[in-house]
Amino acid sequence: MSDRPFVRPEVAAAKPYVPGLSIEEIQAKYGLSRVVKLASNENPLGVSPVVRDVLARKAGLAFRYPQLGYPKLRAAAARALGVAQEQVVAGNGSDEIIDLLIRTLCRPGQDVVMTARPCFSVYCSQARLCGVELRQLDLNPDFSLPLEAMLAQARELGDRLALVFVTTPDNPSGAAMPAERLLEFARALPSRTVLAIDEAYVHFVDDPACASLLSRLTELGDLTQRLVFIRTFSKAYGLAGLRLGLGILAPWLAEAMLRVQIPFSVNLLAEEAGIAALGDEVHLAETLRVTLEGRQLLQRELAALGCRVWPSQANFVMFQPPMPAKEVHEGLLRRGVIARPLASYGLTDNMRVSVGRDDENREFLSALAAVLREGAK
Ligand SMILES: *Cc1c(COP(=O)(O)O)cnc(C)c1O
Repeated sequence: MSDRPFVRPEVAAAKPYVPGLSIEEIQAKYGLSRVVKLASNENPLGVSPVVRDVLARKAGLAFRYPQLGYPKLRAAAARALGVAQEQVVAGNGSDEIIDLLIRTLCRPGQDVVMTARPCFSVYCSQARLCGVELRQLDLNPDFSLPLEAMLAQARELGDRLALVFVTTPDNPSGAAMPAERLLEFARALPSRTVLAIDEAYVHFVDDPACASLLSRLTELGDLTQRLVFIRTFSKAYGLAGLRLGLGILAPWLAEAMLRVQIPFSVNLLAEEAGIAALGDEVHLAETLRVTLEGRQLLQRELAALGCRVWPSQANFVMFQPPMPAKEVHEGLLRRGVIARPLASYGLTDNMRVSVGRDDENREFLSALAAVLREGAK
């Protein structure tokens, strides 16, 4: 008999999420006082002073339940993004938006979720937990989406294809998709299929051809009924620890998802912080300046160190070091730098480094140079 006799088979088969290593773990393990964490694509500038101030002022309200359906946040997000309040859903991180989409749209044992391989693991874990079939198609060698293969499967599946997830810019490659190609793909999907575009890193895009389709909703007509944009406060807005994400989608879908959502999963302080963050253009602009400058520095210097470097439109860079990634990862840890090995994505040769502040980027680069020198001996 199984050692989990009363657990649903989907749950018994589930693998736990693998997060980046924490600063505390590495300090304890290697006896270090200073650790630079460039593993989880967090905002290197931290929480904006404006948001900090709001959190301090609102802390005393934490004994109250939030307003059901977070109407103030929905209104603020709608205003900031140029959509109607009825088109906005918020979640406990965008992870909850992903989970809600699957639970709202997909019939277990009947419908299919399609995505790429490798991809952000939450699409897969939540589909599996819900008992929904998952079709993963390998990315092209340049990490672009295999659009033709996806459409061929989509035609075969027809109405059974409930949901497609695409990530642009993608994690972990940093590749972004041209908006025109994405639009063409969306139009070619079956008429029942919802296309969810995960734009966790969209703020960092500087290629105008890859800008979000969100600003063009009015020209998209009926297609808007089955397009979803997923945004997060964890990256550009620097609020990963508060857990806040957004879905921008058709009112019929927002209304359905709000029925599925646990009441109050967006907490009162997250709601207040989110509203403040949306209004704080100064912190966002500074974040973008630091990130785009740092991204350029990392790409240039990684190449100079003999790494293969992939183009990135995100706040991280994927690279292949000229010696085994596992050894490089461990060498960096010993020197107090946490980067992300990509074995859990099936990319054993590659690593991902988040763009940090200038001092952090330089510390990472000199630690990497030392690791490579040592390895060459
Ligand atoms: C970081 C990330 C998110 C954000 O998740 P949250 O739950 O909002 O913290 C979503 N999608 C991708 C692809 C990411 O890399």
